[in-house]
Amino acid sequence: MTEAENEHSTKRAEKPTHNTKRKEKIMLDLAIIGGGPAGLAAGLYATRGGLKNVVMFERGMPGGQITSSSEIENYPGVAQVLDGMSFMSPWNEQCMRFGLKHEMVGVERVSKNADGSFSVFVEGGAEQKAKCVIVCTGSAPRKAGFKGEAEFFGKGVSTCATCDGFFYKNKEVAVLGGGDTAIEEALYLANICAKVYLIHRRDEFRAAPTTLEKARQNAKIEFITSAVIDEAYGDESGLLGVKVRLKDGALRDLKVPGIFVFVGLDVRNEVLKQANGEFLCAMEQGGQVSVNLKMQTNVAGLFAAGDLRKDAPKQVVCAAADGAIAALSAISYVESLH
Ligand code: FAD
Ligand code: NAP
Repeated sequence: MTEAENEHSTKRAEKPTHNTKRKEKIMLDLAIIGGGPAGLAAGLYATRGGLKNVVMFERGMPGGQITSSSEIENYPGVAQVLDGMSFMSPWNEQCMRFGLKHEMVGVERVSKNADGSFSVFVEGGAEQKAKCVIVCTGSAPRKAGFKGEAEFFGKGVSTCATCDGFFYKNKEVAVLGGGDTAIEEALYLANICAKVYLIHRRDEFRAAPTTLEKARQNAKIEFITSAVIDEAYGDESGLLGVKVRLKDGALRDLKVPGIFVFVGLDVRNEVLKQANGEFLCAMEQGGQVSVNLKMQTNVAGLFAAGDLRKDAPKQVVCAAADGAIAALSAISYVESLH
């Protein structure tokens, strides 16, 4: 929760009682929830566009999910291939220069008040009021649902190759999934590990053809397609292997100490859930926030941007553009209140 004081409170006519200055939390012009590419771009455009009190509530270090990626090579204008962390670090620095404040805390809920303002409730129960809110909470790795996945999560089952790949240097690992993340991270792991088994439930892949082709050309990657994981097994030391059910029904036992699960993402929309269990604004069936081209929800003053919104292409460049659009809409909204 922001500790910012009302800078005007000390200029009040009435004298403070008991010689103490009255502290009040200011009404923010804008609260941004989430500090990935969408939240940071929103912060940049909002502060540079003249909004005065803008706080980005981000529970961790700013940067978002791309910071777990081993490389990004498709952001226009950035020709150099960078790891996600190096790619995002200037974003934060640039925003802070224009006055964006970061509160490192998780938000539990955003609600709308009778006077039209919003309340942002953070972990621990504190409340911060804001004239408008942009929700940019993005998405998180989905669980595949095989036996043993939860039991060995963090003990051999991982969703971050950049974070955990090094633990399996010169060892064999498995990767599950057929999207861009699975194939890109399989390629990354092939640089470190002795061998990568790429397990996918179909023969066709969602991943970009060029990335797929690179993986097919990599001698260290073995494709096991039309196959599902029956079970991950191990002992108190961690994962010892995965049993893979093949197309013909046969079971293949891969004795790997690590499996990386990249089976898609679920949007993080919890902050919009109200005490009565309903969402604050209109949502899509899959849990994404319904927005128009201005990133407006159906609630005045509430915007959503990035992976969280309907039809998001789930790309950094798109999340950043959404954030900028949402900030411009927020500026117009605040102006309309005067
Ligand atoms: P996110 O990046 O998900 O950021 C959301 C932020 O909100 C997070 O930092 C989270 O901590 C915070 N948050 C969530 N809930 C709360 C809460 N309640 N309180 C406070 N903070 C909260 N895209 C590309 O364009 N090119 C690529 O090469 C590429 N590679 C990828 C590789 C991997 C491994 C992954 C996982 C994704 C990749 N993507 C890539 C996709 C890209 O990362 C996303 O589309 C983009 O990060 C979405 O940005 P966002 O700001 O909407 O959300
Ligand atoms: P994704 O594109 O949704 O792919 C998920 C993969 O996991 C699919 O192949 C799916 O199989 C498989 N899968 C889903 N549930 C499964 C289960 N329970 N068990 C086994 N397999 C399962 O997810 P993603 O790869 O994480 O990508 C998410 C988004 O980010 C995409 O839009 C992607 O383009 C984007 N992204 C982009 C880049 C880039 O631009 N370089 C990099 C990474 C991610 P099916 O195919 O059979 O459904």
